Amino acid sequence: MIGISACLGGICCRYDGGTQKISELAALVSEQKALLICPEVLGGLSTPRQPAEIIGGDGFAVWQGTAKVVDTAGKDVTEAFKAGAVNALAQLQKLGINRLILKERSPSCGSQMIYDGSFSGTKITGVGVATALFQQNGLQVYSEENWQQALTES
Ligand code: SF4
Repeated sequence: MIGISACLGGICCRYDGGTQKISELAALVSEQKALLICPEVLGGLSTPRQPAEIIGGDGFAVWQGTAKVVDTAGKDVTEAFKAGAVNALAQLQKLGINRLILKERSPSCGSQMIYDGSFSGTKITGVGVATALFQQNGLQVYSEENWQQALTES
């Protein structure tokens, strides 16, 4: 079994209330081969919600306390992001899941690139808050851009 970002599996949990459904990944859920997780919803954030970005670094820096997550209204949502990541990790570990396909460029789920915190559309190399926690705990994180690799290696 693998873990998949809930928005990639067809759940309307994005900040804008939308989804990023990939039919092949949604099918894995139907076949009970995947668990859907949305760290931001698991952290208690509502849908829709203000878009948020990491300021001061990436997800690893958030856990180190040198970066924070702030939304476009200026609200610090760092603790909600961290709580959701911890909650998601617990669910994944309970099921023995160690491989994930997560939404690229998300401040929670990104695994290669994220936005730089300026809300200008500028991308930087880095990972999201949940991805950082998952990787620190030995989970492998893929994205919608290389998800086939996650399945062939399983
Ligand atoms: S936190 Fe992850 S799963 Fe949830 S909407 Fe954002 S990218 Fe999708």
